[in-house]
Amino acid sequence: MAPGSGLTMADEYADYKRVRHVEPVPQAEAEAAVRTLIRWAGDDPDREGLLDTPGRVARAYREYFRGYQEDPGQHLSRTFREVGGYDEIVILRDIPFQSHCEHHMAPIIGRAHIAYLPNKRVVGISKLVRVLQGFAKRLQVQERLTAEIADCIQLHLDPVGVAVVIEASHACMSARGVMTPGVTMTTSRMMGVFREDDRSRKEVLALIRG
Ligand SMILES: [Zn+2]
Repeated sequence: MAPGSGLTMADEYADYKRVRHVEPVPQAEAEAAVRTLIRWAGDDPDREGLLDTPGRVARAYREYFRGYQEDPGQHLSRTFREVGGYDEIVILRDIPFQSHCEHHMAPIIGRAHIAYLPNKRVVGISKLVRVLQGFAKRLQVQERLTAEIADCIQLHLDPVGVAVVIEASHACMSARGVMTPGVTMTTSRMMGVFREDDRSRKEVLALIRG
């Protein structure tokens, strides 16, 4: 059960998968939209320096939002049981990522820390990075990004505990609006033993802080 919601984890998981069923848009249509935005900004899309820009922007958007083309959970489908009796926390610290806020489509740039206490099953560590990227390469709010990563690990690995902490700065805040560069936002999601047991939570947070 996802804490604080009336939904089961599987329900929430199904919820974000649903966004993938969107009609595909031809690239020409995306490029035309970029031309409109260039004119909206006050420049001439037929100016030489801007001629190839719509195509480049469309391709860049493909890259920024490639998370919609995948189910991040698939990266956790291959697990290992042979862990030599290892029963301590597995942690990946300072994983850099880039995402885009869903309110302004502006960059979110940050670092994630992902930890779990295995319940006999572990995954290759690069898989945790792929889960992060699968969710980051979508339109996001930082709170949901944090929750989705934790829920996905919980759902697929059924570990004793999961902890996800994300620190990020938001270009929509640093480059527009209140114009406050250098401000970072921290969000966290603790599940299982890291949520229920004070000592375990302190232990994982100490590891995350290094
Ligand atoms: Zn924003």
